[in-house]
Amino acid sequence: YPDRAATELRTAVGALYGLAAEKVFCANGSNEVLQTILLTFAGPGRRVLTFEPTYALHGHLSRITAKEVGSVDRAEDFRLDPADAADAVRRVRPAVTFLCSPNNPTGLVEPAETTEAVLDAVAEVGGLLVVDEAYGEFAPSSAVELLAEERPLVVTKTYSKTWAMAAARLGYLLGPTWLVEKLELVVLPYHLDALKQAAGLAALDFVDEMNARVAAIVEERGRIEAALRHLGAEVWPSGANFVLFRPPVPGDRVWHGLVERSVLVRNTASWNHLDGCLRVTVGTGEENGRFLDALADILGRPVPPAAGSASQRSPQEDP
Ligand SMILES: *Cc1c(COP(=O)(O)O)cnc(C)c1O
Repeated sequence: YPDRAATELRTAVGALYGLAAEKVFCANGSNEVLQTILLTFAGPGRRVLTFEPTYALHGHLSRITAKEVGSVDRAEDFRLDPADAADAVRRVRPAVTFLCSPNNPTGLVEPAETTEAVLDAVAEVGGLLVVDEAYGEFAPSSAVELLAEERPLVVTKTYSKTWAMAAARLGYLLGPTWLVEKLELVVLPYHLDALKQAAGLAALDFVDEMNARVAAIVEERGRIEAALRHLGAEVWPSGANFVLFRPPVPGDRVWHGLVERSVLVRNTASWNHLDGCLRVTVGTGEENGRFLDALADILGRPVPPAAGSASQRSPQEDP
């Protein structure tokens, strides 16, 4: 059997944030972290609250575990008004409230003001606030700074995005010691196998390389956002490794045009709230250039300056 408490891994993960192992809970992907939170703190007779649009698994896992799932729609621009969000918490009185920052699928980062307003309301109603930071490393700010023993707040993270280790299935949560102890009571014994624990530890020997890759992606993201605006698309400022945009012609048509040019992006055009939108993941400089070239071609517009394929740009612009 593996080390049941995964102490070495939890110690190393905690050290990334200056936190003790007792404040770290690891599981098979952050989806299992989320499920374990819900099994522990939601359940029959209890409610969960989400702010839509957001990561679909929050609602899905909640519907499986909790009695009732309340969802409040974000504003037209996908932002959340702090006072409205806090009011929703006081009205629904959820056992578990989810925020996702950067939000999937919009990429928007929740301002500290909003997180704090929701956290105050959550504390008032005796609930728990889960901030899902699956894309947190790509963002300028984090809710980790708000963590404290006496606050009902946890932050979830994953090896799947930043570490490009989705196949290893490893995610974790940072939170109060008392809360991690409760999760350990609920999760299956020996749920984290020895190979996964070793893989998670080994990855942490490469933090510098990972940070360099994140910096390169963030730079490319800025280039994509600027080029998309130049091409007449509506663009939501992203704190993640993807960009949500609404092209000036129907998203569905653009998506098919991109596929014909061997470029695959996420077609979110028919998703609830995301009328006509597409979500592009930031790739290498060359891939991003090919995407922008293809899009310009479909829209019949000139390729924006410094946005075309890598060969058209000077070498130092490549990450
Ligand atoms: C990808 C993703 C996850 C799940 O990640 P796993 O660790 O692979 O389970 C959780 N939350 C959000 C917002 C995600 O985008």
